[in-house]
Amino acid sequence: MGKQSTVFICQNCGSQYTSWMGRCSNCNQWNTLIEEIKEEKESVGGEKKGKMQLLSLSSISSEKITRIATGFSEFDLILGGGIVKGSLILLSGEPGVGKSTLLLQLVQNLLNNQEKFQILYISGEESPEQIKIRAERLENSDKNLTTDKSLLVASETIIEKIITSIEEEKPSLLIIDSIQTVFSEKLNSYPGSVSQVRFCANEIMRAIKRLKIPTFIVGQVTKEGIVAGPKVLEHLVDVVLQIEGGEAQDFRLLRSLKNRFGNTDEIGIFQMGERGLTEVKNPSAVFLDEHESNIPGSVKTVFLEGKRCLLAEIQALIVPNYFPPLRRTATGIDYNRLLLLVAVLERRLGLKLQNKDIYIKVSGGLKLQDPAIDLAVCGAIISAYQNKVLSNNIVMVGEIGLLGEVRGVSQLNKRIKEANKQGFKNVYSSQSYKNLLDIQKVLNRD
Ligand SMILES: [Zn+2]
Repeated sequence: MGKQSTVFICQNCGSQYTSWMGRCSNCNQWNTLIEEIKEEKESVGGEKKGKMQLLSLSSISSEKITRIATGFSEFDLILGGGIVKGSLILLSGEPGVGKSTLLLQLVQNLLNNQEKFQILYISGEESPEQIKIRAERLENSDKNLTTDKSLLVASETIIEKIITSIEEEKPSLLIIDSIQTVFSEKLNSYPGSVSQVRFCANEIMRAIKRLKIPTFIVGQVTKEGIVAGPKVLEHLVDVVLQIEGGEAQDFRLLRSLKNRFGNTDEIGIFQMGERGLTEVKNPSAVFLDEHESNIPGSVKTVFLEGKRCLLAEIQALIVPNYFPPLRRTATGIDYNRLLLLVAVLERRLGLKLQNKDIYIKVSGGLKLQDPAIDLAVCGAIISAYQNKVLSNNIVMVGEIGLLGEVRGVSQLNKRIKEANKQGFKNVYSSQSYKNLLDIQKVLNRD
């Protein structure tokens, strides 16, 4: 195959070029050229005269969706009840977050629970020896995984070879780790480029849809942002799962961003240990650190993550600043959000924070996006500032406006329920606090 067999097409205007350019000379857009294999003109013309196959709806047998349980109840929940046969699932996440670990554990579960199950695990990231070492380190790493013949491992990156093997082996489950390492020699683009990722994923999809093989493909995401992969593949695959959590954090959130066979917005929570990932059955209890609670600067809150309500503790530390510049540190909440709340506290409550360093931290290493945590952040700062302990039995939920008013939040009843379930009797929200001054009244009363 020479260079003539491929063509570069601008994804913006459709112009074709024989070689890659940074900028399309027709529409002047940057980085829009993608290499594609030239269509063979004859086959297109030949099929023109053919007729479509028309079916009446009643003649089509509705296919029942069969699902395979993963052995992780959290994982099943996210998938909408298990892995759908013949579905293409993209698992994306940063390097080192635990994608391969999760998949290897899935392999173990399936081999332990399913009969006559054959799994094909193709890795372009690791050698078969490395996969074996990794597998042996995991929980439940009994005889099954490392000696059972039902797991076949290969280190391969050429897509044509992979497709041939899939067609020959017809495995019950296929895993490809990762899509960025796979490439076709028919294209001149380098592995991991948009052209290669798109082409290879299409080839995989065609093969597995025909053979009804459920398939996981791993997509790498870099810290700087998304490289060719997940974004390019989202519309192609049936399910997009994302695994989140930094290397310093034990917790991993598994989230479904797209699911043709279930709901999105579901999240599963796992804890990473030396022997792999374990499901966290009562995450709220885990996120609330066990410690003496008669220390100022601590307030609990209920936040929404996907469809779930979870509890977290917001901690604040305020110390005099003797050496400018001022320090404002936010771990687990948005930094600009903290600055805004501090400004509101200074202006509306008259807190003198201009010569104080402020540190805010969320327990459990969580990153909270929910604006409903505002009230708890303010509560923790006021408590730390006045050096007074807020009752340990209090949970605060509410968004704060620039005027210092406490606003209502979504799903308040659900949040209250979760707080009660975890043993908290008093939930303060916009219904009990009209504005921030109410927190001070509570503090002064105690
Ligand atoms: Zn163009």
